[in-house]
Amino acid sequence: MLELFAFPGGVKPDSHKEESARTPIVPAPLPPLLVVPFRQSATGGVDIRVQAGEQVLKGQCIGSAEGPFGTCVHAPTSGKVVAIESRTLPHPSALAAPCAIIEADGTETWRERVPLDPYATDPAQLRARIREAGIVGLGGAVFPSHVKMNARIDTLVINGAECEPWITCDDRLMRERAPTIVAGAAIIAHLMGAKRILIGIEDNKPDAAAAMRAAVAAVGQGEMQVISVPTRYPAGGEKQLIRVLTGIEIPYGKLGPDFGVQCFNVGTAHAVARAVLHDEPLITRVVTLAGNYVRPGNVEAPIGTPIDALLALGEPKADTDRIVMGGPMMGFVLPDTSLPVVKATNCLLAMSPTLFPPSPPEMPCIRCGACTRVCPMVLQPHELYWHARAKNFGKAQEYHLFDCIECGCCAYVCPAHIPLVDYYRFAKAEIRAREREKAAADRARERYEFRKFREERDKAEKAARLAAKAAETKAKLAQEGAEAVIAAAQSRAHAEEKDSS
Ligand code: SF4
Ligand code: SF4
Repeated sequence: MLELFAFPGGVKPDSHKEESARTPIVPAPLPPLLVVPFRQSATGGVDIRVQAGEQVLKGQCIGSAEGPFGTCVHAPTSGKVVAIESRTLPHPSALAAPCAIIEADGTETWRERVPLDPYATDPAQLRARIREAGIVGLGGAVFPSHVKMNARIDTLVINGAECEPWITCDDRLMRERAPTIVAGAAIIAHLMGAKRILIGIEDNKPDAAAAMRAAVAAVGQGEMQVISVPTRYPAGGEKQLIRVLTGIEIPYGKLGPDFGVQCFNVGTAHAVARAVLHDEPLITRVVTLAGNYVRPGNVEAPIGTPIDALLALGEPKADTDRIVMGGPMMGFVLPDTSLPVVKATNCLLAMSPTLFPPSPPEMPCIRCGACTRVCPMVLQPHELYWHARAKNFGKAQEYHLFDCIECGCCAYVCPAHIPLVDYYRFAKAEIRAREREKAAADRARERYEFRKFREERDKAEKAARLAAKAAETKAKLAQEGAEAVIAAAQSRAHAEEKDSS
């Protein structure tokens, strides 16, 4: 039996999983208009490949990956691109970005699909397929999966912990599609050379664990084990689950592959199997409707579906006052429910004043240290708070601001009701914005310096050309002068010869 380890900190909020996990995943109806953001991953850019007025097929690449961190974006259905325009994204920053507005034709006509045999395919080609399928981490981070697969490891961890309260999309996926998840895990392990696969599931999901065990047994994957881990938030954090299953503690600034281990969410493994074995890119995702709904549950929605259309399926109760994307610990309030479903949309949590009473007013920090005791990343949250609040971003970085996984444990226990994570998000966003501004200024300065260098080089080349021309003319004149002198001397010599004869 595998020895389990504890991770530092953590909290144990009420899980509230039963409400939405009772019923099977239902497919969301195809909306008449989809809004597909071209930015769907945490990193990298996209090269837009369609224009307004163009017909597209289901699964057609409409944005190709730019740079090593880019991932492709696809049409979730067949139809017509009626516009390419900037729309607000469902993201804490509420920034706008280019989106394809697709009018569905209702026929769901696929592009040609070419399944691969993962065990007879070159690893580079397999990774390229995963990149071209637009697969990103579906646990919430939306980091491009092909980048994480670019390493050799001993142990692959498949994350089925789903520790955040209320969210049950992974639970239902494991109960209903365990064989596909197992197939995806085996493909990733093959690609990365992993000798063992550990699938971690919190012990509050016994049905999911049983389904996964049955799927593993059915394919006889000897090196694959399903392990129930204690329910403690945030056991589903990547570093936390690796710690629980392997005992490996990944320090600041290091990544799993530095220790021979890598972690992928169950939804990501499922998407990998669909992409490789069926050539289906990531164009849908399972979204939990939990909280203040008449009909909580899980729906599988095409990316780009308006969130309003999904809410209508769950029917938020009359006293609903906010919709949060994500769970109560890590989610954020949506500014507008007409925004589209994106690859990061794991849950739409309906909140009401009764179910989620408003937080009491923020009080001054009393330096009680409760936040430090529960931080799973062993940070000092109150120090981060002080420096973020004072906009002393350099100091916040010295206290490892970017190691904060925004799990919300510190805010959950804070007796002063300080929305600590909001301060960290603000500080991170400011630092990133300043870095972007600095990079833009550096690029402008480089451009200016290059232009000056080119002007001076052109000037010097022109001067050299003129000098060469002048020297050439001078030499020519000198040559012509010499020839004239010689000709005169010769003619004089002839004349003298004639006279003497
Ligand atoms: S828990 Fe709240 S009050 Fe206590 S030290 Fe942390 S930030 Fe300050
Ligand atoms: S939100 Fe950040 S600082 Fe707070 S407990 Fe989680 S990792 Fe630690």
